[in-house]
Amino acid sequence: MAEQALLQPHKQQEKAVVVFSGGQDSTTCLYWALERFAHVEAVTFNYGQRHSRELECAAEIAAELGVPHHMLDMALLNQLAPSALTRQDIAVEAKEDGPPSTFVDGRNLLFLSFAAVLAKQLGARHIVTGVCETDFSGYPDCRDTFIKSLNVTLTLAMDYPFVIDTPLMWLDKAETWALADRLGAFEFVRTRTLTCYHGIVGDGCGACPACVLRARGLQRYLAAKGEEGA
Ligand SMILES: [Zn+2]
Repeated sequence: MAEQALLQPHKQQEKAVVVFSGGQDSTTCLYWALERFAHVEAVTFNYGQRHSRELECAAEIAAELGVPHHMLDMALLNQLAPSALTRQDIAVEAKEDGPPSTFVDGRNLLFLSFAAVLAKQLGARHIVTGVCETDFSGYPDCRDTFIKSLNVTLTLAMDYPFVIDTPLMWLDKAETWALADRLGAFEFVRTRTLTCYHGIVGDGCGACPACVLRARGLQRYLAAKGEEGA
């Protein structure tokens, strides 16, 4: 957007596409990209999330931050989900250990590939994703080595010099809160993003595994900050 570039002349005159779910991590990435690049757009994948609140939340955040938002239909992923392949009535469960029952192998590979097609159409070289190896929870396509490999593959596949940016790759959950704070986004991320498996924005239900993980990181960050201030 021309206005973004004019208002922020110190930014890199580059376009970026942020893979954006409306959650804590990708919202932090969106702020990171807005600080860094002259023009930023967001892409959200609709794969039949359990809560459409997640998609609404993403759309609201993008609108509020003045970021053009693309919603891509990835409903076909449900045809490949283990739960759909085995039993139609299986509950969508978030397990304490390992990926939820809706996990589809290579999901991140697919999302990043579609994001790359979109990015090239928009004339954006940068693709920003909130994947993280530190809290590696059984998703091999979130690891740094995979991202580097995919970066090469996408560049070769489309003959286009992509750069996949992963600002959270080596951060733990407390450090991700610290990054949001440094970007001036702490309150926004805390109150407006959706992580909770039960679709409750902000601090969430406080009981599901996603809320527990988020709260733990937040408490660690606040404790560390308090010690610093003391
Ligand atoms: Zn929750």
